[in-house]
Amino acid sequence: MTGKQRASKLRQHQAKPLGTENSTPLDALPRDVISKIIGIVGQTSRADISNCLLTCKEIGKSVDDVQVFKRLELQMLQRQPLLAVGNYTDLMMKCLIHANPTAHYVQGVLEYFYYDNTIAGLHFLEKAANAPSPINEAIYLTGMINLCSGEFEIGKKYIDHLLRNTNESVVEECWEKIKTALHGIGILRKQEYINSLWAMMPPYMCNINDMQNTCEKCFHYKLMVKFVFMM
Ligand SMILES: [Zn+2]
Repeated sequence: MTGKQRASKLRQHQAKPLGTENSTPLDALPRDVISKIIGIVGQTSRADISNCLLTCKEIGKSVDDVQVFKRLELQMLQRQPLLAVGNYTDLMMKCLIHANPTAHYVQGVLEYFYYDNTIAGLHFLEKAANAPSPINEAIYLTGMINLCSGEFEIGKKYIDHLLRNTNESVVEECWEKIKTALHGIGILRKQEYINSLWAMMPPYMCNINDMQNTCEKCFHYKLMVKFVFMM
């Protein structure tokens, strides 16, 4: 090999970007060792473990720690459930099996809005809403879907529960997060939603065009208007 060829080869080697190798030192460890490491890290930092599992699918396959999957915060998928379509299948499956509330929320959003499997979707959202550490957006959506499907008392119960345990600004924040989560998903405006809006119409003295001010007679109605027309 000439000096010129050697220099060219060295340049090629150096130019190779980091992270393009098929395996990392962590991948080279036996699966039960990776599982133990992830389990220990998972006890102290759920955010770190979540990032780790979302970044490297191979590591996700190695982990069998029930507590990790049960409590994993899948923030990236929570913000954008569409990312889970065709991706992170193993990770989502393990989290769903271990009743992870964020995974239930993500699956609920996808089933209800993306696949139009409304029964399965509501089932997953209810699980996320009724979990010991519930997902606020799931409580909001379960309430809205019930309200807009004519199940007024059930819907009000969820929304009022959220309001009681938080405050109006958290409820508003929930709606903003839901709009982000539903971004890119085509939403059907169902006739039953419109029918429910008519049925929930507040009395004349409530200005239905004033979305900022609400009273107890028009609060739920105005949330429904946002859900039906502003998604
Ligand atoms: Zn009012």
